[in-house]
Amino acid sequence: MQAIMNTYGRLPVTFTSGQGSWLTDVDGRRYLDALSGIAVCGLGHAHPAVSAAIREQADKLIHTSNLYSIERQQSLAEALVRVSGMENVFFSNSGAEANEAAIKIARKYGHDRGIHEPVIIVMTKAFHGRTMATLTATGNVKVQEGFGPLLNGFIRVPYMNLDAIRNVIAANPNVVAVMLEPVQGEGGLATASAEYLQGVRTLCDDNKLLMMLDEVQTGNGRTGKYFCFQHYGFMPDVVTTAKGLGNGVPIGACLARGIAAETLQPGNHGSTYGGNPLACAAGLAVVETIEQENLCAHAQLMGEYLRAGFQARLASTGRLKEIRGLGLMIGLVLDKDCPTMMADALKEGLLLNVTSGNVVRLLPPLNVDKAEADQIIEIVSNLIAALS
Ligand SMILES: *Cc1c(COP(=O)(O)O)cnc(C)c1O
Repeated sequence: MQAIMNTYGRLPVTFTSGQGSWLTDVDGRRYLDALSGIAVCGLGHAHPAVSAAIREQADKLIHTSNLYSIERQQSLAEALVRVSGMENVFFSNSGAEANEAAIKIARKYGHDRGIHEPVIIVMTKAFHGRTMATLTATGNVKVQEGFGPLLNGFIRVPYMNLDAIRNVIAANPNVVAVMLEPVQGEGGLATASAEYLQGVRTLCDDNKLLMMLDEVQTGNGRTGKYFCFQHYGFMPDVVTTAKGLGNGVPIGACLARGIAAETLQPGNHGSTYGGNPLACAAGLAVVETIEQENLCAHAQLMGEYLRAGFQARLASTGRLKEIRGLGLMIGLVLDKDCPTMMADALKEGLLLNVTSGNVVRLLPPLNVDKAEADQIIEIVSNLIAALS
């Protein structure tokens, strides 16, 4: 481990293989994966459609660069446009990079309109990534500490507060965009209401601002729709995604429509790997499988099943304050911090994690079945009930 830079706190387990919702470690012990590599392996581990797509593409062509047209990239872009109603796509290799593209679109959109010090409104407890711009946009001083100076051009407001956005817009003619997550995956699973999101849309329309949704975690079926915004009947100007898009193969995407789709021109932005044939083959298999196996509806259904199960099991304990999130993005808000929960669950053969100290986060594969859901409910409920 000394050869690896010391940037992660890790649990003492090493996995060697996976199948569906299950992982196997070096000693042959099996674990139920209720975290999916942090919302990445939405189709479960070793999904045959994804594995076949990667294998076939690897045998044909892995990379050519964006100096040439790429068939797979074109196909994946068309698939994403079809499932989202957005107009075009820029491909990156990660969520942070997808958000970098969004931030650059917003800034360029400002410059094109004569705003040379563009400002993007961002939210408290937001998480947008670890690059310098996305770290600046992130609302967590703990992850920013030690990395100043951060970037100019971001103003933070309290999440879920329309007046705060309205006030910043009124006071600042340089505002060009509002950037937010519909569910704050790293920020304790805080979940925006329909009224709030629709209100942000209206404020953006009235003030010619771009509404930019970070769906790096909420996208690709996770909340019970392909994108979370599709629950609410409006369209964002920019939406980013990554995590679940490649089922483990690194890929990110920044989707745009309207003026945002026309803002970047040749030479304005790029990525050597972004949208390469291998990553796009995986992405295409994911989008098609989500559609063919009806996984958005299944995620919605299993989300309801898990929530009902937790309510039934935990109501009497007094430990469960609230269940946050949407679909298979589930946050069990406890009445106290649970710093050993992740390690305790591992001992019981279950993978999960904890955000914001007291929120148990569950992100099982979209195709999790009822028997697996029952096991998740059983183990997690017992651990919570046993909290002293
Ligand atoms: C994970 C995440 C990111 C960062 O994605 P990386 O692929 O780690 O760069 C950005 N935004 C949200 C909402 C995320 O959940």
